Amino acid sequence: MDREQAGIRAAELRRILWENSEKYYVENAPTMSDFDYDHLMHELEDIEKRFPDLLTPDSPTQRVGSDLGSLVNGLSSDRFAQYPHKYPMLSLGNTYNIEEIEDFVRRAEKDLGDVKFTYSCELKFDGTAICLTYRQGRLYRALTRGDGVVGDDVTANVRRIANIPERLSGSGWPEEFEIRGEILMPYESFDRLNKEREDNEEPPFANPRNAASGSLKLTDPAEVGRRGLMCTLYHIPAQSISFETHGAALDAAASWGLPVSDERRIVSGLEEVEGYIRHWDTARKFLPYATDGIVIKINELAYQNALGYTAKSPRWAVAFKFQAEEALTELLSIDYQVGRTGAVTPVANLRPVQLAGTVVKRATLNNEDFIRQMDVRVGDTVKVIKGGEIIPKIIDVDLDRRPAGAARPVFPTHCPDCGTPLVKAEDEAKWFCPNVDGCPTQIKGKLVHFVGRKAMNVLAGDATIDQMYNLGLVRTPADFYSLSAAQLMMLDGWKERSANRFLESLRASVSVPFDRVLFALGIRFVGETTAKAVALHFGNIDAVAEASVEQLLAVPDVGDVIAESIFNYFRNPAHMSVVSRLKAAGLQFSIEASEASSDLLAGKTIVISGNFSISRDEMKRVIEMNGGKNASSVSGKTSFLLAGSKPGPEKVKKAQELGVRIVSEDEFFTMVPKEEQDVEPTLF
Ligand code: NAD
Repeated sequence: MDREQAGIRAAELRRILWENSEKYYVENAPTMSDFDYDHLMHELEDIEKRFPDLLTPDSPTQRVGSDLGSLVNGLSSDRFAQYPHKYPMLSLGNTYNIEEIEDFVRRAEKDLGDVKFTYSCELKFDGTAICLTYRQGRLYRALTRGDGVVGDDVTANVRRIANIPERLSGSGWPEEFEIRGEILMPYESFDRLNKEREDNEEPPFANPRNAASGSLKLTDPAEVGRRGLMCTLYHIPAQSISFETHGAALDAAASWGLPVSDERRIVSGLEEVEGYIRHWDTARKFLPYATDGIVIKINELAYQNALGYTAKSPRWAVAFKFQAEEALTELLSIDYQVGRTGAVTPVANLRPVQLAGTVVKRATLNNEDFIRQMDVRVGDTVKVIKGGEIIPKIIDVDLDRRPAGAARPVFPTHCPDCGTPLVKAEDEAKWFCPNVDGCPTQIKGKLVHFVGRKAMNVLAGDATIDQMYNLGLVRTPADFYSLSAAQLMMLDGWKERSANRFLESLRASVSVPFDRVLFALGIRFVGETTAKAVALHFGNIDAVAEASVEQLLAVPDVGDVIAESIFNYFRNPAHMSVVSRLKAAGLQFSIEASEASSDLLAGKTIVISGNFSISRDEMKRVIEMNGGKNASSVSGKTSFLLAGSKPGPEKVKKAQELGVRIVSEDEFFTMVPKEEQDVEPTLF
């Protein structure tokens, strides 16, 4: 490769790496495997080593991937205040190759010269990094890694993580110190969350790492609490403590009640390092949370100091990453499953195979294009992978072992459930059954969604709904509200008591707030967050039903697809009839009067920046409750920039350039009454 070719390839690699870094850190939805990502990163490192003049300061080899993006889960990340880290939060050099661990050990021995030192061997926890500051023994602040220099303040969320102490115990902790670690989502919480998401037809998280980092960036701390996250801490920056070794610092942290891993070991020499790696290569499969490797650190802080840092990672530590596990198995058959919204997903039934601690029997085949691109056929031997990507995936087909006569699967042209011809929009990969209100699977799916815990919270599981449907008792959510105890007692094993409990939960559901009722209706693409935003914006169902696509687009985070879906939903007379029957049953179809506010800010587009006496979310809510509209960037259309303390310098500059008025919090609360805002919000 000559210099010119290297330059072209380096530019291409940087582009691919930045794009995937954004998907991974900001959207929490990677589309490339970590192994492939690391492979490309190492290729770029090699090019930059061979042609040093091609190295640019913004190269991904020189910077840690940033979680400070423009969008997180569809929401703007400027929901969080940002603070600089006292000491940069870096990444770790990594390798999948044991020889490179040997090189690391040899280099450390050579660089440190004739001294005796030890290694701290630790699990590499696969979650999202966190930096906690304790001041006078109390949790003061929690920051994400951000871009390594500045992090998002997620303290309110971190306070909801059960094993992070608010106050330290024991004695001897410094007046103020930082401790860093990982926020993890144990497999159990992950499975529960993904089950809920699938029930709600929200895309499942690809793995516990993405689920943990997505959850840490939620705006509702109570929801973070429900997600079942945990924390493990593994590093106190040497500058903030006076211990001689990393191990002693972590022992002390454990004695102060902080969650520190029991699996770490202090070892000497390469052989013991390799023994630790060998042990955990297998033993990690029995841990209740995900790990993606082993971290090896020089234990003596003075020697860490002597080795120092590169721009991106410490020279005194290295990560050995485990490869995702693979297995070969046979594709026995393909099922075509219809979901609540009518999407038809092909699912592979596999000869059961042991993989990464579980028996894998099924794997998604995504859609028709995926089947075609893979050229996968029934009878094929397929390679299944399960690693960082917890949901098993078929990644390859062994064409040499294809049985003679194996035919290409034929994607159904009609719904496997109701027989309606399937349709596909031009820009979608999935086929849909358009019989939304007549296809049994879709009807039952919508009923199950309606009664779900996050929707109307009515006491009925999938099997009950199945029976109610089969007996012809319910077809739409409105039918639940006309069921009698006698009808309910037709269900298998239901007696007066169970019927009454069900009716009681139905009665209780009439006080479920409007946003959840809107979510419960099961409008395609309207998840919980969208339902809240729409409810807040319009205030009542009639306004939502009458809204044009353009008006719907004014709701924060509602794009074309969602707006059209809501618009179309209310153009269907059958849906309007369900809504009016539900109204008659007494369900909440408007935000309570106490919540509705004024139109004092009607027609005003406001950008907020900085910190306020209330949270940024509450401030945005105040604006909406008074008829104003929030925007994320200053433009000619901005009515004013509402600036709290430490507003973003870029926004202030832009406002000054464009002559947009800058309004302080005090001045703002002369425009709208403050008392109303002090009411504890009931919607969130
Ligand atoms: P990393 O995950 O490889 O390693 C550094 C991180 O490990 C630290 O920030 C820390 O959070 C964590 N860690 C866990 N246990 C630790 C311990 N005991 N001691 C110290 N640190 C510990 O690095 P990264 O910078 O967070 O992420 C880069 C990696 O992310 C890449 O190597 C790649 O695998 C993955 N990635 C994947 C994609 C993709 O598209 N699949 C995109 C971007 C990044």
